[in-house]
Amino acid sequence: MKFGGTSVGDVAAFERVFHIVSTQIDKHPVVIVSAMTKVTDALLNAFDIAKKGDFAGAFASLEPHFERHTEVSKHFIPAGASNLFDTELEFARGELSDLLMRTTRRSLPLSMLKDAIVSYGEQLSSRLLAEVLKAKGVKARHVDSRRLIVTDDEFGAAQPIWEETRDLVRLELQPLVSGGEVPIMGGFIAGNRAGETTTLGRGGSDYSAALVAAALEASELQIWTDVTGVMTCDPRICGEARTIPVLSYEEAAELAYFGAKVLHPKTIKPAVDHHIPVRVCNTFEPSETGTMVLAHSGEAPNTIKSIAHKKNITILRITSARMLGAYGFMSAVFQVFDRHRTVIDVISTSEVSVALTLDNSESIEKVVEDLRRLGDVDVESGYAVICVVGEGLRASTGLAAKIFSTLADVNIALVSHGASSVNLTFVVREGVVADVIKKLHKEFF
Ligand code: ADP
Ligand code: ASP
Ligand code: MG
Repeated sequence: MKFGGTSVGDVAAFERVFHIVSTQIDKHPVVIVSAMTKVTDALLNAFDIAKKGDFAGAFASLEPHFERHTEVSKHFIPAGASNLFDTELEFARGELSDLLMRTTRRSLPLSMLKDAIVSYGEQLSSRLLAEVLKAKGVKARHVDSRRLIVTDDEFGAAQPIWEETRDLVRLELQPLVSGGEVPIMGGFIAGNRAGETTTLGRGGSDYSAALVAAALEASELQIWTDVTGVMTCDPRICGEARTIPVLSYEEAAELAYFGAKVLHPKTIKPAVDHHIPVRVCNTFEPSETGTMVLAHSGEAPNTIKSIAHKKNITILRITSARMLGAYGFMSAVFQVFDRHRTVIDVISTSEVSVALTLDNSESIEKVVEDLRRLGDVDVESGYAVICVVGEGLRASTGLAAKIFSTLADVNIALVSHGASSVNLTFVVREGVVADVIKKLHKEFF
């Protein structure tokens, strides 16, 4: 059972988590929890302040968030009883103070310090949840994820090393679970082989949960969040969004990748590989079934399941007339992205030109510089990718026509269709994205 940040935001949220966990004790759950809402952002912000040299400002900015933890612990843990969490929080304060000071002095590599700092979101939420559950009579036990999820050294976006992780998770968790205990672990945080703290990338708690589920061959992976499952589009954009009862893994992966942040894209992988059904459910409506993600959705083809979108997209167009009729152009282009470890989202090509989109603007300048050696490069920012997902979209007749005729008055900057059987993806200006989604939603749902 994985609980996201919004599911552990305050006292009421912890109460809901307790109820959900306690009704499933007989299924022998393992609980993975994200940082309390806004805490990850606050820690990253504190790191940025410290980087600019302001240690006092950085540390002070965290105080309201320490307070939020204390409020929850005070509420659930009776006064007078020894409060293990308060001791942990004091310890964390000291460690964070030390790490922020090191950041101002740059006495360790910044990427390493950043992960160490940001990990306190999950370190604290998981210890807090364990103590709250114990106070309420659940046989909970905190387990430090940094000892079980083993990754490479890529701080900020570390890759788990599967065999080692699997063996450690089994070794440590199986005896607890069989002994009737409920392990509570922080998501998102891990450790490299040297024992240094790493993180799996934003939204990575889903990934941690999938790894643990796969290692233990769980019968189900439950992702508990603040909406009832994966919906026909982002409910924040369109109030008419509805829950999708069943999705295939492939559909869910496309949706997650193109911005439906309700599921982390990588979540899908360990679960697919191990045939573990994933259920996305709502902490606020625990009796609703939410969305089941299965190997195959088995539903009628030709239907659109959902519309995902991702903003802050840049389009690059590379044209090289001298490559006309020569091979090796695409390969040269891709090598540039490979060198700068930059992910391409959407791509469309002709013989001498390539248009593609990126959402990672950090490395764009260097990428463009290298691409200019191959031809003319045109860079345009301020776009959004819209991805229409449904099993069998490629094979269906008339669907693309219907989509684009709905958008007859919208300028489409780029289209990609046919590479995957489940999606049709196109790019529009960021300013019109909400309007486009509402129109499509009205037409198809
Ligand atoms: P958590 O903290 O539980 O991990 P996230 O904020 O990562 O939650 O993901 C849940 C949010 O994803 C929802 O509040 C919703 O606004 C957003 N979202 C975007 N697209 C979709 C979609 N298609 N279906 C459901 N939620 C979506
Ligand atoms: N707390 C981390 C984040 O906000 C991980 C997660 O919530 O999944 O990115
Ligand atoms: Mg999330």
